[in-house]
Amino acid sequence: MIDCIFCKIAEKKIPAAIVRESGSVMVIKDISPQSPTHLLIIPKKHYATIMDCEDKELLGELLQTAREIAKELGLSERGFRTVINTNAEGGQTVFHLHMHFMAGRALAGRMG
Ligand code: AMP
Ligand code: ZN
Repeated sequence: MIDCIFCKIAEKKIPAAIVRESGSVMVIKDISPQSPTHLLIIPKKHYATIMDCEDKELLGELLQTAREIAKELGLSERGFRTVINTNAEGGQTVFHLHMHFMAGRALAGRMG
């Protein structure tokens, strides 16, 4: 069994602020938010990075989930940012695929 924090959250072995959950995807609040709304959209199945996931349906579900959250939170027009960090130079720190959903303030135009 790999020692992975997001797998443990998916298995309810450690707590998290889960805001939404489907059969294959969960959405939690980031523990160290960088914007007023900072969520993580996470497949329940373990993929270390996006490069390890060839499941097109699941990858689509991550984006679809972002759209649904934006609608639910009334952020479609104001705007939001979705980010997937990948490996060292991409700034990935947790090696279980996840997409950041950030909103609630004007985010800096510079990406990195
Ligand atoms: P990344 O740098 O793209 O790998 O992002 C990892 C994110 O996971 C960071 O924004 C962390 O604040 C967040 N994070 C780490 N541990 C937890 C946790 N237990 N619950 C919620 N978010 C977490
Ligand atoms: Zn994992």
